Amino acid sequence: MKDRLEALKVEAIGQIKESQELKDLQAVKVAYLGKKGPITEVLKGMGKLSAEERPVIGAYANEVRDSIQQEIDKKQTELENAAILEKLAKETIDVSLPGRPVKQGNAHPLTAVVTEIEDLFLSMGFTIAEGPEVETDYYNFEALNLPKGHPARDMQDSFFITEDLLLRTQTSPVQARTMEKHEGQGPVKIISPGKVYRRDNDDATHSHQFMQIEGLVVDQNVRLSDLKGVLETFAKKMFGDDRKIRLRPSFFPFTEPSVEMDISCFKCSGKGCSICKQTGWIEILGAGMVHPNVLEMAGFDSKKYTGFAFGMGPERIAMLKYGIDDIRHFYANDIRFLKQFKNA
Ligand SMILES: [Zn+2]
Repeated sequence: MKDRLEALKVEAIGQIKESQELKDLQAVKVAYLGKKGPITEVLKGMGKLSAEERPVIGAYANEVRDSIQQEIDKKQTELENAAILEKLAKETIDVSLPGRPVKQGNAHPLTAVVTEIEDLFLSMGFTIAEGPEVETDYYNFEALNLPKGHPARDMQDSFFITEDLLLRTQTSPVQARTMEKHEGQGPVKIISPGKVYRRDNDDATHSHQFMQIEGLVVDQNVRLSDLKGVLETFAKKMFGDDRKIRLRPSFFPFTEPSVEMDISCFKCSGKGCSICKQTGWIEILGAGMVHPNVLEMAGFDSKKYTGFAFGMGPERIAMLKYGIDDIRHFYANDIRFLKQFKNA
């Protein structure tokens, strides 16, 4: 019986070695180790053996079965590896195929204009200050010389959240907050870009949400001529070196005196066209000397310190610069509009 088992082992291993494919190997496994295989047959005949022989043959049968199984496992790994290598040899990657271009986006035209303005003022020694968009009535109005009931509040219809909290109507509260932080010590030299909100009906030139950039300088001996110099530099950098500026008297509650700045038309150079409404001048921003009340409220001695402030709308600047005719384009997220500013 032992000889029979030995013969089966040799036969099985021979067939395993000859297997060329996994399915051949599987067939060998079923043939020799399966329930109807010869080894099981041999074991069935064990009843005829003596009590001494039985455990010896049983142990040998198990040994034979184990070595056949080991050979099968070995061969299986071999065949599987060979299959992978064959697959790798067959498959090739064509690296000469041109790649698909990666689509590159661009900055939103407003972001581009704001960044340009920021860079310009940073180069003149200003720093950038930011503040909350949900603001208290105090910082949005009162600290800016607009007490409750002041008629000028009507110019800024607001989104109130509570009696005392609102979406800021201007970035000026950042000025009030910054001055307060300085505790009466100059110099202050900031610009404050950001979103502001007003209860306006949206049309080609109005939006309930828009951007502002305000500037503030507070120091000893700050004069209107300093303001003019800064604004002139801004106008030339943004709209061309041959721009002239003019200041017209105006009114803002937090500045005194207050001015509007116009620039000479960059399209017609003053002859008159549709952009400048035939006047030769384009209104760009409002400015003025900081009202003494505003300085005092923020803790500055208005006899010692003076300052100037200005505020502009990046939307208007972008519309003028790029010839955009409707403010709503900025917020509609229409890719066809936005991708025109790739080189802006
Ligand atoms: Zn013009």
